[in-house]
Amino acid sequence: MRTKDKRFLFFKRFSTGSQGAFGDCACGVTNYDTTNKWDDDHEAHLKTLSESDRVHFQSNSIEFIDIDGALFVVGCKCKTDETILSLLIEHRDQVIRFLKDTQDLAATNL
Ligand SMILES: [Zn+2]
Repeated sequence: MRTKDKRFLFFKRFSTGSQGAFGDCACGVTNYDTTNKWDDDHEAHLKTLSESDRVHFQSNSIEFIDIDGALFVVGCKCKTDETILSLLIEHRDQVIRFLKDTQDLAATNL
């Protein structure tokens, strides 16, 4: 399976399904969609901001993944989404063995 397909399935499983013009990531960074032109207030607010440790601009709508109740923004500078996806792909054998070893409910379906 291609990495692109794995990425699609990862976000399908972990996405909250919500999108927006901005959103706070669990890491503390607020992400803004700079291409959103539907909301005049959003555009005006963007002009008051600059990229910083706490502000990150993206050129797409802001989406979230839910990791045990913590909402992380897809594409955030913390790269939590990419780190988890990489862990699952690169260490899939260990992940599967771990689930089987711990007799996690999900492992019974593997
Ligand atoms: Zn983040």
